[in-house]
Amino acid sequence: MTQWESLANEHILGIAPYEPGKPIEELERELGIADAIKLASNENPLAPSDRVQKAVAAALSILNRYPDGSAFYLRQALAKKHGVTPEHVILGNGSNELIELLVRTFLKPGDEAIVPHPSFVVYPMVVQAAGGIRVMVMLKDYRLDLEAMARAITPLTKIIFIANPNNPTATIVTAEEVEHFMARVPERTIVVFDEAYLEFAQGPDFPDALAYVKQGRKVIVLRTFSKANSLAGLRVGYGVADADAIALMNRIRQPFNVNSLAQAAALAALEDDAHVLECVRMIEAGRHFLYDEFKALGLKYVPSRANFILVDVGRSAAEIYQKLLHGGVIVRPMTPFGMESTLRITVGTPEENRRLIKGLRAALGKQA
Ligand SMILES: *Cc1c(COP(=O)(O)O)cnc(C)c1O
Repeated sequence: MTQWESLANEHILGIAPYEPGKPIEELERELGIADAIKLASNENPLAPSDRVQKAVAAALSILNRYPDGSAFYLRQALAKKHGVTPEHVILGNGSNELIELLVRTFLKPGDEAIVPHPSFVVYPMVVQAAGGIRVMVMLKDYRLDLEAMARAITPLTKIIFIANPNNPTATIVTAEEVEHFMARVPERTIVVFDEAYLEFAQGPDFPDALAYVKQGRKVIVLRTFSKANSLAGLRVGYGVADADAIALMNRIRQPFNVNSLAQAAALAALEDDAHVLECVRMIEAGRHFLYDEFKALGLKYVPSRANFILVDVGRSAAEIYQKLLHGGVIVRPMTPFGMESTLRITVGTPEENRRLIKGLRAALGKQA
């Protein structure tokens, strides 16, 4: 009998299925509770603003029609915001889709892609699926090691992924480091800056990746509405690159990849700086609250430039994860990355953060 596996594209057989954070509804069902909190997927704890919700509601009445496949207004607004033309902008069903799209567009079987590790697991997955060769470069002190990544460049290197800030470590590479690195990247190699958490990382040391696009470098910058804009559920992200690169990616883009509600919401969100500011401030305060609490519990953490924190619980992270789950708190154990005593915790609302700390204290067997 023919097995399905023998029919599959051989490139995908070695890929482990992506494990998303546990959904809140699933945990509530399992525990029979109604107030679980999720600090596992780096989502924004704030609901989309009224302005965005109204825009989505207004778009409901056109759902009988296909969306605008060119996302005309949204691309125009993004181009204006970033000082480029709409031809420099591509929309995706989340920036995840664009990671896959750019790899399918540019990576040929046998090409190499340099991937930091640990970093976003989607990069090696899509490279492998495309028959590319993953060149994994370990982080150094929880930060991307751009020096080692530059040394890993060969004549076969087609794509280099830079998650800035990096997930799961929440660290950044600085403008100076990136400038140094870019001077060593050859013309034939595409550098992808995945800036999903950019809004939480702002500071004078943060690099201006878009400037490399404007200089005509082989750079693709990815951004998303999933994090600071509170729109993870609608799936909308975008890429900025040279118009020729965008045109190539558009050849294999699904014509209606970004739905009408997502386009309406993203357009409204672009005019809602106040919401982003509110949430950035809340996350910053939350980070400091959590640092203090971690210190009080004697736990080491990696200072964060994003909306999540890597914390070393000093014992089995899987065990602490389970204990927190029983208290209705979902976090992310880093066990699959080989970090046996480390959790990745998304910063929540002040109330969620307090609940997390209470649960953590109990899980660690510490007195209040
Ligand atoms: C969350 C995240 C994204 C965003 O993904 P979307 O598909 O836009 O929701 C992209 N890159 C990294 C590293 C992330 O953590």
